[in-house]
Amino acid sequence: MFFEQYVIGAMQNFGYVIGDPATKVAAVVDPSFDARVLQKVAGENGYAIAFIFDTHHHPDHVFDNERLANESGAKVAAHRLSNVRKDLILEDGMVVKVGELKVKVVHTPGHSPDSCCYLVAGHAFTGDCLFVGDCGRVDLPGSSVEQIGRTTRFGRAPSTSSSGSCGRPSRWEGPVRWPPAPVSSSAALASLRPSP
Ligand SMILES: [Zn+2]
Repeated sequence: MFFEQYVIGAMQNFGYVIGDPATKVAAVVDPSFDARVLQKVAGENGYAIAFIFDTHHHPDHVFDNERLANESGAKVAAHRLSNVRKDLILEDGMVVKVGELKVKVVHTPGHSPDSCCYLVAGHAFTGDCLFVGDCGRVDLPGSSVEQIGRTTRFGRAPSTSSSGSCGRPSRWEGPVRWPPAPVSSSAALASLRPSP
């Protein structure tokens, strides 16, 4: 699988390009604020971006959806509960083919009602659901401690010990801690905190 990961924007989101080397069809996972670096690496390697997979609707993950879709012709794929414009409505258990790559959708609410993880060729793209050594915030509108607790099936997801699998960089290396610490103190999403 073609796989490229970049840190994008001031909130240090991870954005990804994955692609099928046989067909040169690719997808972006989480365009974040500016997916042009992802378009560039895809183009330089001869890939056409056919899909945009959003792990959830928070703006630090989807801000560049529409610009990227307009320029690339890619279809926006997001969970049914996401409020973004969608070309492809995703449900738990669906498999979407990117060329010959199979992207399996796992609905993992908790951080947000529409949070999904994507399983592709042994990689887990977890968005803000699960980080290396931590879980996503559950103090935002739509968050649910109970729901993220039920997401324990992802505690042993493939590749979660690598930096290529979570929403933001972490220097922590080791097995995923589960159950997670109460609430991440990450300042990355501070701007999403509801006003008092
Ligand atoms: Zn989020």
